[in-house]
Amino acid sequence: MYFHYLLDATLGPRVIYYVIECSVCGFDEVYFKSPESGELLGRACANCNCFQKFDFDKNVGKKTQLHHKCS
Ligand SMILES: [Zn+2]
Repeated sequence: MYFHYLLDATLGPRVIYYVIECSVCGFDEVYFKSPESGELLGRACANCNCFQKFDFDKNVGKKTQLHHKCS
């Protein structure tokens, strides 16, 4: 459950965009997008407690990484 709260605090409101196999553990790695703008928010694997938040620079439209806690 802690992981769920971590995602709430980091990514905020989100919907599942798509799911792939985690490259680390082989469990489900979920990509989330914003329910409002449709922008990709980040990705997370609940099995290895790994998440990454994507931050989009509105000026250049470039994707930067704010958090990367994958081990
Ligand atoms: Zn994993």
